[in-house]
Amino acid sequence: MAFTRIAHNHYHPSSMLRLKPRLERERRTIEAMIEIFCRDRHASAHQECDECSGLLAYAERRLEKCPFQEEKPPCANCPIHCYQPGVREQVKAVMRYSGPRMLLRHPIFILRHWIDGFKSVPEFHRRKTGNS
Ligand SMILES: [Zn+2]
Repeated sequence: MAFTRIAHNHYHPSSMLRLKPRLERERRTIEAMIEIFCRDRHASAHQECDECSGLLAYAERRLEKCPFQEEKPPCANCPIHCYQPGVREQVKAVMRYSGPRMLLRHPIFILRHWIDGFKSVPEFHRRKTGNS
């Protein structure tokens, strides 16, 4: 399934994904992280390699289907863990690598990501994720 790539610097209200603003922000965060990871680890030039664009497409679909929607907690704190195990490892590797680097390149995203981290999971029982 091919996702049209959206120009990076513009928010497209007509995005086919129609994500809520909060999820769109998260999508852009993960997109930026995958870009950094792929560029450094896979030596990609202008576009992610197949593996990484597949990962992004997967992440986008998870966001789209996230049952929390606007209430979505950061994935690390989420009680659902909707990613299938293999992909989850992949995405964790990306976040581990790109997370600190985001501070330099996209400070606003990571800052918001952390601020979001202080919001607790609504209603749902919170579970400490000790396995990070
Ligand atoms: Zn890659």
